[in-house]
Amino acid sequence: MDTTRLKQFVGTFWDDAILPSITEYIRIPNKSPAFDPKWAEHGYMEDAVKLMEAWARRELEAFPGAALEVVRLPGRTPLIFMEVPGDSKDTVLLYGHLDKQPEMKGWFEGYGPWIPLLKDDKLYGRGGADDGYAIYACLCALKAMQEQKVPRARCVVMIEACEESGSYDLPFYVDHLMDRLGNPSLVVCLDSGCGDWDRLWLTTSLRGIAAGTLTVRVLTEGVHSGDASGIVPSSFRILRSLVSRIEDEATGEIKIQDLYVQIPPQRIEQAKDAAKVLGDQVYAKFPFAGGTKPMASDLGDMVLNRTWRPQLATIGMDGYPAPIDAGNVLLPYSTAKLSIRIPPTLDGRAAVSAIKRTLEADPPYGAAVEFDGGEGQSGWHAPPLAPWLEKAVNRSSQEAFGNPAAYMGEGGTIPFMGMLGEKFPNTQFVITGVLGPHSNAHGPNEFLHIPTGKRVTVAVARLIAAHHERKT
Ligand SMILES: [Zn+2]
Repeated sequence: MDTTRLKQFVGTFWDDAILPSITEYIRIPNKSPAFDPKWAEHGYMEDAVKLMEAWARRELEAFPGAALEVVRLPGRTPLIFMEVPGDSKDTVLLYGHLDKQPEMKGWFEGYGPWIPLLKDDKLYGRGGADDGYAIYACLCALKAMQEQKVPRARCVVMIEACEESGSYDLPFYVDHLMDRLGNPSLVVCLDSGCGDWDRLWLTTSLRGIAAGTLTVRVLTEGVHSGDASGIVPSSFRILRSLVSRIEDEATGEIKIQDLYVQIPPQRIEQAKDAAKVLGDQVYAKFPFAGGTKPMASDLGDMVLNRTWRPQLATIGMDGYPAPIDAGNVLLPYSTAKLSIRIPPTLDGRAAVSAIKRTLEADPPYGAAVEFDGGEGQSGWHAPPLAPWLEKAVNRSSQEAFGNPAAYMGEGGTIPFMGMLGEKFPNTQFVITGVLGPHSNAHGPNEFLHIPTGKRVTVAVARLIAAHHERKT
């Protein structure tokens, strides 16, 4: 494949065919079901599916025998499924999602989640980078290969609409589509992060998540704090002491030993390498306020902290009025939503029960304490890269970015990868993405870094070509 021609094709296709459509997509507030329980009634998810479906159908016309189906299992979010015949029966599975995170506060003046805004190579707005671009990049890579008549395996593309809610609909679709999925020998997932904009980043692991809601009840209704304090224990104080059972409040270290795993030596080495490539960007990419410093001093340790060690984030609180409405009341209950990221190889269900046991045992003052934790989600750890793929990854990074590839675990969770890893233990995985420094998926001011989108697309075309060449 001619690299210059490939880059040219991808660049023009992104500018002419992708950006106009993705701009429309950003306008649609199709929040994931967890953040919009009435998603079906509201119809935004349908709008996003229709937009992408129409776009993809037009592009697929160029591929003889290609098919697109919006699969709709009753009561579940829809899924866009495409089959593009190839030059062998071998299958490459490409994956992305179209549902979005909620708005979040803190967008720059004039910017907003549903306002597509192009500035300095960046397209701002919710869902462009996480993960709307995926379907566009997949078809662009296939078109670029076709333009140069490069042979490849049959490709199937799955774009789900439930990822940001934990992909709870996806196992049903995987079962439903099993025959049409075939037995993919390569999975390409375009929903991950990159450490910088200068190379292809391969995700070597993803953390799992054990989240739940901790509630402490001390009263059946609020009472005058002048009357009750000193007699009725504060629910906040009890909550605070319970949280301290699982996390050291001075260091942030998780205290439950069952939430740790042995980190594989190769991953420790790669974390050190990634830290060297990234330097201060390991932490400087975050918008620290005031004099806030990171939790560790060693860069390699920071990488391992966010990829292989359990960590707690308290992501929501209930039971409290806003300060302006707060009277002197001893409140009846405190609720905190706890989100604990767990190591890639730890079982999500086991993690939730270890946390629940620790929090609910022997409640202070006999208060009513409940941790509602659901099932948890296990993480994912990449199988070793086949030699052909390792070579291809480096080569495609060189050609697309001008630098060798880098390998790093990611701190986030993509439930589908765990599912696929279980179903297809011999499959090779390329998990990459455009969520780089400051791109702030899930937060305010999310943006899609367009040059990286193009380069990742170039790399994907290269990898699919190399996958076909490996046998012939
Ligand atoms: Zn995503």
